[in-house]
Amino acid sequence: MLGLMQDWPLLCHRIIDHAATQHADRPVISRSVEGPMHRTTYAEIRQRALRVGQRLERDGIRLGDRVATLAWNTWRHMECWYGILGIGAIYHTVNPRLFPDQIAWIVNDAEDRILLTDLTFVPLLESLADKLPTIARYVVLTDAAHMPKTTLKNAVAYEDWIASVDGDFAFKEFDENTAAGMCYTSGTTGHPKGVVYSHRSNVLHSMIASMADAMGVSSRDVVMPVVPMFHANCWGMALTGPMNGATMVMPGQRMDGASIYELLNDYRVTCTAAVPTVWLMLLQHLESTGSRLPYLDRVVIGGSACPRAMAQRFQDDYGVNVIHAWGMTEMSPLGSLCSLKPEYAELDGEAKLNVQAKQGHPPFGVEMKITDDSGRKLPWDGRTFGRLKVRGPAVARAYFKGEGGNILDEEGFFDTGDVATIDRYGYMQITDRSKDVIKSGGEWISSIDLENLAIGHPKVAEAAVIGVRHPKWDERPLLVVVLKKDETLGKDEILGFMAGKIAKWWMPDDVVFVDEIPHTATGKIQKTTLRDRFKDYVLPTAEAAE
Ligand code: AMP
Repeated sequence: MLGLMQDWPLLCHRIIDHAATQHADRPVISRSVEGPMHRTTYAEIRQRALRVGQRLERDGIRLGDRVATLAWNTWRHMECWYGILGIGAIYHTVNPRLFPDQIAWIVNDAEDRILLTDLTFVPLLESLADKLPTIARYVVLTDAAHMPKTTLKNAVAYEDWIASVDGDFAFKEFDENTAAGMCYTSGTTGHPKGVVYSHRSNVLHSMIASMADAMGVSSRDVVMPVVPMFHANCWGMALTGPMNGATMVMPGQRMDGASIYELLNDYRVTCTAAVPTVWLMLLQHLESTGSRLPYLDRVVIGGSACPRAMAQRFQDDYGVNVIHAWGMTEMSPLGSLCSLKPEYAELDGEAKLNVQAKQGHPPFGVEMKITDDSGRKLPWDGRTFGRLKVRGPAVARAYFKGEGGNILDEEGFFDTGDVATIDRYGYMQITDRSKDVIKSGGEWISSIDLENLAIGHPKVAEAAVIGVRHPKWDERPLLVVVLKKDETLGKDEILGFMAGKIAKWWMPDDVVFVDEIPHTATGKIQKTTLRDRFKDYVLPTAEAAE
């Protein structure tokens, strides 16, 4: 027997319909790319999204067509998402931090038809346009007054483009499994792979992200996604905010400490999210100016491991709760968040930080397991590490065009490429990427644990650990350190600081100090480049062993 409930497809544009009905006047405040702050409401965003949809149809865009965006977090970018979604076209967020050739590659692979761009990227696109044959029109997200002279094909200022239709339009209804958005994974080897979200997966993911033990977003919140809309689906926040009627603050392109602080303070942001690099800049700004964070309730930190010292400073020095989170583009992207279950809720001090160093527990809608290389399940004892695999309604089952073949195991789980432990309360902790884990004498050493420890030294700005070839142990850890400005530090001092906090055999065999550590387009440490650079490095212990 089937249930007798209504068939109400989970369509993303229903989120903006709801926001415009229930939270019509709630502000959406953006730092515009042109410079000044801009204020609008959910009701206006919906009105203008209808025009985007109407205008896209006039430009020949239909169900299933891809529309690229190369844009920062602003109200216009949000309108574009909902306008595209509302006609069943697919938003394809392109990461402007990729190499130009990679940008061309993914736009071609996705066969994008129209490209919506911020002013910032017009020169980049002009230099690439010859390589983008599928793009029939470029829309520059600005008004006529700021529209530059450009050679881009059929270029038009966004405000003129949407003003050319009357807005008498209705969003479409279709199957909830219809594709909604696309985002390419950075892919450290080979070509990037396209992840394709559906309306259903995006709506479910937004509901999952809203739950109290996840981001716990309500209409009383002022939410600021610093994480860009082009990075892993904006961690769902461009959908989660409107779904809950939260006030939104969109930071545009300026993500330095002072600019982020200004928005947090002026607009009384209560909940924000970004990668650790952003929070490092904010904390440096707070320290150098003596500023406080009186309104911020919680900060979601993910994308790479949240250093323990960062969690401690937010909580102890500024009274801001830290939610360490883990996820990936393939998971829409949230996989786990580190809110405290009753078993851990009473902890404080070091014991609490120990738990918060974990990436947390999966919300309803994400199943996890850890296995060995043969696929055998490993115990949840908080010590045994294995390959982390996930399953759920907002987890990819395949890549665009079948790239990479079958990506699920026989139980339908996706291998995340991360290595993790899970403790008896279900808290997962990433110990490494499977390709970054250091294999020493048949045992695994977690590069992330060592990095977190090194970064806890007050003179260290950034640290990376890679495995370097060793004649006896196969691989041994090499610690690569960037010092804070004007600081000096010796190898023995940093190793002395780490000693006693980890097993002896985990201690790095050597330390090198560098000016800069390379990062990927999504702000992660680029281990492949570091490994290349140090591939012939001879460890002092290697010489002794030979
Ligand atoms: P992306 O799809 O670009 O967001 O990258 C996803 C990958 O980032 C994951 O598979 C992890 O390796 C890494 N990652 C994300 N969040 C964390 C975290 N909190 N701690 C450690 N690694 C993380």
